[in-house]
Amino acid sequence: MPFERKTILIPGDAPGLATEFTCLRIGPADAPRKVHLQAALHADEHPGTMLLHHLLPLLRGADEQGLLRARFSVLPLVNPLGLANLSLRHHIGRYDPNSGINFNRRWPDLFAAVGSLVAGRLGDDEAANVALIRRTVAEWIDRQQPRTAVEQLRLLVLREAHDADFVLDLHCDSDSLIHIFTSPELMPGLQDLADWIGATATLTAADSGGGSFDEVLPLLYRRLAAANPGRPVPLASATATLEYRGQYDVFDSHGADDARRLFGFLCGRGLIAADPGPKPAPAPAATPFEATEIVRVPGPGLVAYRVELGERVTQGQPIADLIALHGPDAFTARTPIRAGTDGFVLSRSLAKYAPRGTMIAKIVGTEPLPGRTGGYLLED
Ligand SMILES: [Zn+2]
Repeated sequence: MPFERKTILIPGDAPGLATEFTCLRIGPADAPRKVHLQAALHADEHPGTMLLHHLLPLLRGADEQGLLRARFSVLPLVNPLGLANLSLRHHIGRYDPNSGINFNRRWPDLFAAVGSLVAGRLGDDEAANVALIRRTVAEWIDRQQPRTAVEQLRLLVLREAHDADFVLDLHCDSDSLIHIFTSPELMPGLQDLADWIGATATLTAADSGGGSFDEVLPLLYRRLAAANPGRPVPLASATATLEYRGQYDVFDSHGADDARRLFGFLCGRGLIAADPGPKPAPAPAATPFEATEIVRVPGPGLVAYRVELGERVTQGQPIADLIALHGPDAFTARTPIRAGTDGFVLSRSLAKYAPRGTMIAKIVGTEPLPGRTGGYLLED
């Protein structure tokens, strides 16, 4: 199939506005498997867009040689609405400024939407069950009447992703090493993905509590399986959030290397009939996200880091000092901020002025931490 560029105009919520939503489709339309790749759902995170810019020619080249064994849906800017939100020369890409809602939270609960429609219709054939579930989800999406541009955008993205066997959502942290968020059932099955992309950590959570995009399909299948005992319902979409370093790490050199690595993963899975090349070095095994400490500052201050990304730390070790900015000790006192777990420093904050409660680091440990079980696990 030729390379298809599908553009939809999303009508704006204000008069005279419309936003281009572009989806690129590559590969045989009748291929049994589908790969969905998207970047910049948080519209201020562009390493994934750079990666897909470099991956697209590789996919097109493979397509021209007849090597694609899957159809690819590629959305290098999945959230064009978020690109327009500029205020006082500052780009607000993480939140919808109208509602304040994080673009990667509160995605629809598809089990609530289709669970009752599927009940009683599942049989003993796993593939037929998956096809029925996907058809029911597509019909539900098509029945929706979006009230806002953001709602329409979300439905367009879900429509594109819902029937994919691999759904990879490309993000980045503030200042960070490469890592993955995914569902516990998908590991170690996706260990080859972690190896290929060079992940320093794979963090798993069944439900991080925020309704993130990457949890929509796993939650659907997990709940359908629980609600329909005796009927085979696999987790039919291998879904993961890939965190490609930090917000400023947008360079051709990273993008080209990351694209080559992701291409290697796709070849290794037989989704592209090409030689994946030498096997990458093994990445660390997955750990529960509950074992990752999100370090916050107890008051406002200026952060002076004592550790680098990737550095191993022990519980109680100071990882930064918080320089006082107010009160009698302003500009002289330094308060150590200590690690609450043994582990390694996965991410830091690019901004060094930290209002009270700001997250300044993630430390990847191996044992679930008190206060990190069963609740809301995300940073915002
Ligand atoms: Zn993000």
